[in-house]
Amino acid sequence: MSDTLLRFDRLEPLRAQVAAWRRAGERIVLVPTMGALHAGHLALVAHARAIGQRAVVSIFVNPTQFGPTEDFSRYPRDTDTDLALLAQAGADAAWLPSVETMYPAGFSTRIEPGPAAEGLCGAFRPGHFSGVATVVTKLLIQVGPDVALFGEKDFQQLQVIRSVVRDLDVPVAIEGVPTLRETDGLALSSRNRYLAPPERATAPRLHAVLSHIAERLAEGAEAAPLLAGGISELEAAGFGPVQYLELRDADTLSPVTRVERPARVIAAAYLGSTRLIDNVAVVPAAQA
Ligand code: AMP
Repeated sequence: MSDTLLRFDRLEPLRAQVAAWRRAGERIVLVPTMGALHAGHLALVAHARAIGQRAVVSIFVNPTQFGPTEDFSRYPRDTDTDLALLAQAGADAAWLPSVETMYPAGFSTRIEPGPAAEGLCGAFRPGHFSGVATVVTKLLIQVGPDVALFGEKDFQQLQVIRSVVRDLDVPVAIEGVPTLRETDGLALSSRNRYLAPPERATAPRLHAVLSHIAERLAEGAEAAPLLAGGISELEAAGFGPVQYLELRDADTLSPVTRVERPARVIAAAYLGSTRLIDNVAVVPAAQA
């Protein structure tokens, strides 16, 4: 770890620094983010420091992963606070590319991820995972880390990145980090700051409903009635629309009707104008 956070907004100096660390035999860990950092992001930084010598954090609000009606322009941006938090957390470098650096005039390549990107958020956010896969592939090539960390909070994103890295032989290990939650269960998210106080009071119900369903599934219950009941419960609590509440295999993300191997209950729902996502692991009782 260095005492001061290095800040890069051009690619060449960043690459030179990473190359110097690599020559010194240091293990480099990348944490890609969109900024508006919270304790969930900082948990990834802490993990990066625990498993490597150098933690590089990218901050880039990626326009290509937002749909035309989504919150790209109002997405929270506060680089000064982010940099102070990263310095405090002991990160070594911040990579702060501009939109022009990432997508210069004439940029025309896109990564089209496979089945992991189908359904769930992929069904409601057309093009989202292509945008994510494209920008993350670029970040991995730019930084060239040994390991890149992604939160389980965005579980489908984690599995999409794993599939892209595997398919394209990108020389990096992808690691998932468990979701950091508020004490009432709400998953930390940059978008939580959009929630009005009454919505913030309702928001933890999402995790409560998912956890309850996961417990019943682990005991061997059939998924369909539990999932339908969960949607009704969320709607009664004030969520709406509930875009999906599904049970998926934890590795392949294919739909599951009863839990026989590790799975995830995974959901996306609006609360007012804020879209919340969350997921909970289901481990069959016999394997727990
Ligand atoms: P974002 O800035 O929302 O793109 O998130 C950057 C990274 O932080 C992604 O890998 C997210 O999955 C991860 N992340 C976001 N929220 C949390 C959380 N509550 N716990 C753990 N990781 C998170």
